[in-house]
Amino acid sequence: MDPANYLKIKSKIPSNVNILAVSKGFKSQEIKTIQNIGQNDFGESKFQEAFEKQLILKDLKPINWHFIGRIQSNKIRKIVQNFKYIHSVDSFEKLEKISSISYEEKKNPIIMLQVKLSDDPKKGGFNPEFLKLKWREIKELKNITLTGLMTINPKGLSSNENLELFKKCRAYANSLQLPDCSMGMSGDWEEAIEAGSTWLRLGSLIFGCRS
Ligand SMILES: *Cc1c(COP(=O)(O)O)cnc(C)c1O
Repeated sequence: MDPANYLKIKSKIPSNVNILAVSKGFKSQEIKTIQNIGQNDFGESKFQEAFEKQLILKDLKPINWHFIGRIQSNKIRKIVQNFKYIHSVDSFEKLEKISSISYEEKKNPIIMLQVKLSDDPKKGGFNPEFLKLKWREIKELKNITLTGLMTINPKGLSSNENLELFKKCRAYANSLQLPDCSMGMSGDWEEAIEAGSTWLRLGSLIFGCRS
């Protein structure tokens, strides 16, 4: 983890685009290093791994923790208790459960709904047309703050294919009047910015290779 590298990346990203530093696979010490130079949003994809780091880091300036991994139903309470943002909500059932648990816990997580824009069998997410059909029901759910959509592009696409999928995500978000799009990772962040991303999820670009 080289702080100069982080600052260099940051200088290339427009100030209206947020950086989520994806720290999965990296140690709490590395999180501390870049928190010290101004990064305060960190993303994790496994609850247990994240929670261990949260305990170690709990006495620092508070970090905004984002959950970005596949959500197991039996972990929803813990995720709601320990994360301010959840990017990877991929079904209506899970969203309902997040809402009812948030109500019990007196929480109000910021939610981005994962959408599936291509036929990648490895990736989950809402079908965008289904999302539109369910929209009124979704809007009535309590104790969640729905701000956007999230998408993960399949691996191996050309730059142009990445750009087109990201533009689709942006268009769906706009049609639902959602300001945020969580899209763009270390290999496709430039296309994501061009398409209107508001949250880039950057892991290896910031922290280096995961061992
Ligand atoms: C790991 C991960 C990232 C970051 O990946 P990099 O290629 O290291 O930038 C972003 N989003 C999700 C959902 C991830 O699981």
